[in-house]
Amino acid sequence: MNDVLIIGTVAFDTIETPFGKVEKALGGSATYASFAASFFSKPALISVVGNDFPKEYIELIKKRKIDVDGLKITGKTFHWDGFYEYDMNEAKTRKTELNSLEHFKVEVPEKYKNIKYVFLANIDPEQQLETLRQMDKPDFVVLDTMNFWINNKRKLLMDAIKKVDVLLLNDGEARQLFKTINLVKAANDALSLGVKAVIIKKGEHGALLFTKNKHFSAPGYPLENIKDPTGCGDSFGGAFIGYLAKTKDLSERNFRKAIVYGSVVASHNAEDFGLNRLRHLTINDIEKRYKEFHDIREF
Ligand code: AMP
Repeated sequence: MNDVLIIGTVAFDTIETPFGKVEKALGGSATYASFAASFFSKPALISVVGNDFPKEYIELIKKRKIDVDGLKITGKTFHWDGFYEYDMNEAKTRKTELNSLEHFKVEVPEKYKNIKYVFLANIDPEQQLETLRQMDKPDFVVLDTMNFWINNKRKLLMDAIKKVDVLLLNDGEARQLFKTINLVKAANDALSLGVKAVIIKKGEHGALLFTKNKHFSAPGYPLENIKDPTGCGDSFGGAFIGYLAKTKDLSERNFRKAIVYGSVVASHNAEDFGLNRLRHLTINDIEKRYKEFHDIREF
């Protein structure tokens, strides 16, 4: 039985960082998120790819026991082309080719409709809303987004945020979405829309959790070897919801643990290009770094 539903992009990524370049590598928000979630739970994926999408990439996804019955194949695969300069916290987009994503009509397979944990990973907010409309009654919904959708579909994005439990976004996106430079103010604005928690990811500097009365700050992991941060936000979100689905505990205290697991998986993800690191990651690697996180923040 699948216990987490993830909708987002499955993509070709062309990425350039100061440490190298890859072309048309397997990427996409749903790919990273479901790989990360699969260390803790059994994800089911909803997305679309083109007829040009290699079978080996689908096999790679299936190998992590991710259910791909919700993956449609039509037209050409979504392609993101981006680069990072020495400040690896900020991805710069060269090109976004929506291709088959542009006319993608979400159809949630019958067998997914009663899944209780839903991750609306970064994708068109119209498709995020449509997924929610078709679900029976999820217990817990997390939403992630990015500047592309804030710029192009702000109104629909706001409608979607009002329907979820947790809003996940990075610091730049939080400032952009709520039109303020102050992250506490951005978080309070998000809480006033009705979400129960806001998580603001700050790249290598960690993540902040805001709930109505509490505030938690998770440190970043001091990584010496960063090659490619693409997918760190999605991996964070996937591990976060995967851990919550596994433990079935939605207390603020358990959110904190889930955030640290999110940071652990994201920090591993940055160590190599594309999905190269997550493909070979083990739960032992994750648990080892989770313990180190404990030490980092004890004083
Ligand atoms: P992040 O976790 O923020 O680094 O997300 C990286 C992933 O987002 C890449 O693998 C891209 O394929 C994907 N992506 C880029 N632009 C978009 C977009 N506009 N909508 C959805 N996914 C995107």
